[in-house]
Amino acid sequence: MITRPQIKLFGTDMIMTGFDAGAEKAFPNYIKILQGRQKPKFQAAEAVGALDRKIKEVEEVLKCCELCTRRCGVNRLAGELGFCGVGTRPRIFGAHTHMGEEDELIPSATIFFAGCTMRCAYCQNAPESITPGLGGEWTEEEIALWIEEEWKEGCRNVNFVGGEPTPYLYSILRSLRACRADIPVVWNSNSYYSEKTAEILKGIIDIYLLDFRYFDERCAVRLSSAPRYPEVAKRNFLDAWRDSELLIRVLVIPRHTECDAKPILKWIRENLGPWPRVNIMGQYFPTWNADLFPEIDRRLTREEYRDVINYAGEIGLKNFIMQEQYLR
Ligand code: SF4
Repeated sequence: MITRPQIKLFGTDMIMTGFDAGAEKAFPNYIKILQGRQKPKFQAAEAVGALDRKIKEVEEVLKCCELCTRRCGVNRLAGELGFCGVGTRPRIFGAHTHMGEEDELIPSATIFFAGCTMRCAYCQNAPESITPGLGGEWTEEEIALWIEEEWKEGCRNVNFVGGEPTPYLYSILRSLRACRADIPVVWNSNSYYSEKTAEILKGIIDIYLLDFRYFDERCAVRLSSAPRYPEVAKRNFLDAWRDSELLIRVLVIPRHTECDAKPILKWIRENLGPWPRVNIMGQYFPTWNADLFPEIDRRLTREEYRDVINYAGEIGLKNFIMQEQYLR
């Protein structure tokens, strides 16, 4: 396995700083992996043959795809395409050392897969995020080598995102099998994946980094064309919480504080307790097709953001991240 003979970019101190008390409480195993006291989960799975079994399982699923909630049922191995338009080869529109994630994650070796299972009107990465053809084709060996290089350079994790990583589960697992770095794995998803995918992810992921966008299905359908989103997301959050360590992202959307942001926080408090790590995000800005929906065609106001932050405190959430710049 690849260790870090030399931390080139960030210095050894960087690896173990940036963990406040809340991060230490939320991510004890992740921190142990970074300290070299524990192996990432995918390696344990590989050692007992579980990673191979999961790869075979995904291969079967691809014959009648149900990796996400849409359950298109297409045979992707035979070249059929479903809603996401993703084939069987990895297509990537960005891969870099990301410093824009939460403090405990950076520097993060982030891979942006092209193609998505949702269609958020306000997507910040469209059109690349929803168009597999706009991504460059990589091999799984190239992905593995890139991860190993990033690890040697001092990245704390490999961060699979998109678009959406779900349609690329096959390539992700095969890349991990080829990877020789002791690097923690972050699954950075919109939370719209199927039970089948949740089952396959178990025992592989070190940190689930999951969006929780909507609590009202009408909002999910209207703004993201995602029927059943709230029930699926709740199920996936409970699964992720049981399986591993969890970081929840709640993007506060203008005029959706009462129907979505606040009920989401309440659900988290009631079902996962006071300590889940929750990033309450205030950076929404209207982009892509947001102008088609008048209520979200503006930035979030300071008052809206402050209202949601105050609410999180009132209901007893104790480990949330707020972005001070949006409170002022
Ligand atoms: S991953 Fe793509 S093809 Fe598979 S069910 Fe979801 S949208 Fe359909």
